[in-house]
Amino acid sequence: MQENAYLKCIGMDCGLEYPISATRVECENGHLLDVKYKEKPSESLKEKFLSRRNPEGSIFNESGVWRFRELLNFCQIDTESFDECAKSLVSLDGAEGRQSKPYHMSKVADFVQISQEGLWLQPEGYNPSGSFKDNGMAAAVTHAKLVNAKRIVCASTGNTSASAGMYAANEGIECDVYIPSGQIAPGKLSQAYQFGAQIVEVDGNFDDALAKSLDEAKQSNGYTVNSVNPFRIEGQKTIPYRSLEYLNWDAPDWIVYPGGALGNTSSCGKALMELHEWGWIKKIPRIAVINAEGASTLSDLYNGKFNGEELRWNKGKPNTELIKNYYSDLDEKGIRPKTKATAIQIGRPANLVKALRALDFTNGVVTSVSDSEMLDGMAVVGLNGFDCEMASGAVPAGIKKLIEEGTIKKDDVVVGILTGRQKDAMLPVDYHNNPSNRFARPPKN
Ligand SMILES: [Zn+2]
Repeated sequence: MQENAYLKCIGMDCGLEYPISATRVECENGHLLDVKYKEKPSESLKEKFLSRRNPEGSIFNESGVWRFRELLNFCQIDTESFDECAKSLVSLDGAEGRQSKPYHMSKVADFVQISQEGLWLQPEGYNPSGSFKDNGMAAAVTHAKLVNAKRIVCASTGNTSASAGMYAANEGIECDVYIPSGQIAPGKLSQAYQFGAQIVEVDGNFDDALAKSLDEAKQSNGYTVNSVNPFRIEGQKTIPYRSLEYLNWDAPDWIVYPGGALGNTSSCGKALMELHEWGWIKKIPRIAVINAEGASTLSDLYNGKFNGEELRWNKGKPNTELIKNYYSDLDEKGIRPKTKATAIQIGRPANLVKALRALDFTNGVVTSVSDSEMLDGMAVVGLNGFDCEMASGAVPAGIKKLIEEGTIKKDDVVVGILTGRQKDAMLPVDYHNNPSNRFARPPKN
């Protein structure tokens, strides 16, 4: 079969290619991979995507991921055939991305000091497992099924394991979840337990757990579903697709994400590169990534806070020595990523290089915010009737900071992605019981 979809290394000097059935997460030289498509999709699909919002009985139209299936058709199926979709595409009854779209939130707009019309926030927490991960996981497990994988493997501090466990259970495949021993609130793993995943405890932090899970997957034929998996990135492209569709494909000035493993930054960048190449969008929104101050690898490197050099994509030849030296420096000083926003408590973001490409393409910016700022951001989202986790609070907090320093202009149109629902029940309780917090509403008697 003539392959219309294939894998290609992102390194400009390397560019190795692999068939779509390959299960590797990097090329022989250790570079990340992209899913590539030979055909240019017709812009008339915009109307088809819109019409599918009336799903007419198809869960693949209901799904906010598979509604856009022509733009991630790595299975190379007839996307109009329900039977072919049903055979190949993994979906939790159309629930992934179904409720996701951008909203105006007046109290958040007041908090960040921008006009209500200028600010859109897109909650991804209403996905079936409670976070944006379901977008990418539906696609990754679809690929796992395509290659007949019997066991998927991930490292996780919560959201990934919930999503992986859910789809694995639904598809009848095994799921191993590597976690940093003793570092995760047991509640954050309750979904993984509920879905029958096998928890594997690893000494160290998330970065150690990821390294171990990648090793084990390689040794024992497991299928990795962390965001280094290029199919995860394909599924997550649908997050900006939905934002853009609701804005009539009229690109905003900014798209803002919390920064953890940087899969979202990477996928948003890839989505925008493709849409721009096809002529579907004229303007390129700028991506803003918000790190936690206690896990600020990208912010430090991008903003030249380490060795005075600003790390850049540099036409596909980023200074990887600088990255290595930064990690060695952290190790030597015994600095471990530390924030209460555990979803982004990551010191070695696996998609760092892809994120640099995204920032380069979109003239992006990176900043960091404190835990207390994130908690205020989380709380003010709640005052609009939307739930979100602490890491998502980085988005309002980061937008506020970027507006205050003049990077985001007051008349800019900004889309912020709220990545997940609250899974740490005590965070809002503790926040509101402390009267010194900005939005606290302590109980009274
Ligand atoms: Zn390569």
